[in-house]
Amino acid sequence: MDCPKCSGEMVTKTHDGDISIERCRVCYGLLMEDYMLERMRDEWMAETFLDIGSASLGKKFDKIDNIKCPVCNIKMDKIVDPTQTHIWMESCPKCYRIFLDAGEFTDLKYETLSDKFKSLLKGKRK
Ligand SMILES: [Zn+2]
Ligand SMILES: [Zn+2]
Repeated sequence: MDCPKCSGEMVTKTHDGDISIERCRVCYGLLMEDYMLERMRDEWMAETFLDIGSASLGKKFDKIDNIKCPVCNIKMDKIVDPTQTHIWMESCPKCYRIFLDAGEFTDLKYETLSDKFKSLLKGKRK
């Protein structure tokens, strides 16, 4: 499979037998099914194994839009995370695979954790 952004080779990466994603060897973009993203968000430290590209590299490739799903060969939609509107992701309208640039998953996950932490603190305070 070729990377939809840079045509680099996408290789399958697995983590703990539960998580399986495709990662580009050149831009370190990540392609995964939508339920896999939820699993990765729950998996402790998944970002350190899977999202190894630098955020600055990811920002460079984030400027490339209008990409096609490498599986379905149709245009992917730009979507934002409902809780973190600064993170743009590409989503395939047919197979629901999601493409994240390098660093975006770490951003997504870190913010999610800190948001959870904030609500924990709020819950404790009277
Ligand atoms: Zn790539
Ligand atoms: Zn697709």
